[in-house]
Amino acid sequence: MAWDFSTDPEFEEHLEWMREFVREEIWPIETIEHDIGQAELDRIYEPLQQRVKERGLWAAHLPPELGGQGFGQVKLGLMHEILGTSFFASNAFGCQAPDSGNSEILAIAGTPEQKERWLRPLLAGELKSAFSMTEPEVAGSDPTRIRTRAVRDDDGYVLSGHKWFTSNGSIADFLIVMAVTDPEARPHERASMFVVPADVPGVNMVRDVPNMEHPYPHWGMLGGHTEIYYENVRLGPDALLGKEGEGFLISQQRLVPGRIHHCMRWLGLARRAFDMMCERSLYREVRGGLLRDKQTVQNWIADSAAEMQAARLMTLQAAWKMDEYGSSAARMDVSLIKFYGAKVLHDVIDRALQLHGGLGYSTDMPLEMLYRYARHARFVDGADEVHRESVARQILRGYEAPEDGLPSEYVPKRREAAKLKFADVLDAVSVEG
Ligand SMILES: Cc1cc2nc3c(=O)[nH]c(=O)nc-3n(C[C@H](O)[C@H](O)[C@H](O)COP(=O)(O)OP(=O)(O)OC[C@H]3O[C@@H](n4cnc5c(N)ncnc54)[C@H](O)[C@@H]3O)c2cc1C
Repeated sequence: MAWDFSTDPEFEEHLEWMREFVREEIWPIETIEHDIGQAELDRIYEPLQQRVKERGLWAAHLPPELGGQGFGQVKLGLMHEILGTSFFASNAFGCQAPDSGNSEILAIAGTPEQKERWLRPLLAGELKSAFSMTEPEVAGSDPTRIRTRAVRDDDGYVLSGHKWFTSNGSIADFLIVMAVTDPEARPHERASMFVVPADVPGVNMVRDVPNMEHPYPHWGMLGGHTEIYYENVRLGPDALLGKEGEGFLISQQRLVPGRIHHCMRWLGLARRAFDMMCERSLYREVRGGLLRDKQTVQNWIADSAAEMQAARLMTLQAAWKMDEYGSSAARMDVSLIKFYGAKVLHDVIDRALQLHGGLGYSTDMPLEMLYRYARHARFVDGADEVHRESVARQILRGYEAPEDGLPSEYVPKRREAAKLKFADVLDAVSVEG
């Protein structure tokens, strides 16, 4: 029987190297983020990316034939836990969302020509990309409602629509856009995916939407979420990814592993907040004692440790299931970790911030930034409510309502059955009595 929670020593060495590399080389970037532009950021990344490539850890999410490492989800998960500690880390390892998901889409659905034109340079870090699906006018939680249209014209398409929250749109060289190709088809067969070069006429980027993470106007930087009008963009037939109507099918294949990576990154972030909380408890004095001696603080530390461990084991188990049995088998596990992981992330950061008081609320600590950043986890990648609904529905399929309208565990009913089952013994008791 195989039941093993250990990491093989050779891979653990890579993880050790990553922990130090991310802490020493990546975390410092956070403190100068607002003093530099994208060009300077790219310059900082260049030697770091080179070191990651030399170490054999570049683009680890893809199979070797596509220039990746073919590690599988468990190893990737362990890597993402370290990368998640800093918003800037994934980019140094060639697995920055949405580039990582887009490279998976191109790998799954791209023709050899599309792979050569878009995937190869994306993997080499020569191009940047974005994924453009969400629209302000309709619920992103129900993407079958999108309105962006790609209408056939001659042998190509004309694309028109309005998107927002296209992450990295303003720095992308190309965008993968989800658009309706057949409004009469069944909901999940209406949309298709297109590769759209960012510089073709009609791709009109309006702004990077100010948000909790970046509250002030912020344009053309990694991590911007762009509002875009696609206005009669003419596309050749070579822009279509996969077949018409396969947009949702392709995006599902990409989303399931992507969620495991998100959850592991959230755990890395939660761990960073947890470390700050523990450190604070050791030196801050209140009412003649240290915070570490207050029971509430001890509860926060113990609860956070338990919740992070539960989320970590759930996430690694989902990753293992994906590696062993494929993404369909892991779907419910992935929904569980999506909403549970998002809550753990939020709660741990919240406690850490609380324990820092005014310092935690100030920008002298990264906690306020982590708190603002973490908030989106509860509604992106499927709102928590949607995942809970899906989990409950799947679980309830395994149950039936009792035909007699009484609960299966109803004691009077069970007692009657037990009396028949144990009649001999009960008869003897009454005779003896
Ligand atoms: C940081 C960030 C990055 C993003 N990056 C991208 C990107 O790169 N590309 C892209 O296309 N989009 C991106 N998005 C958009 C994201 O995918 C959407 O915000 C998300 O899908 C939710 O859609 P919505 O905002 O339209 O909210 P809505 O769909 O309107 O949902 C709002 C709320 O309604 C509730 N709700 C929804 N469904 C149910 C239900 N079934 N039961 C009960 N309650 C429900 C939930 O509370 C939910 O939070 C990003 C968003 C953020 C914040």
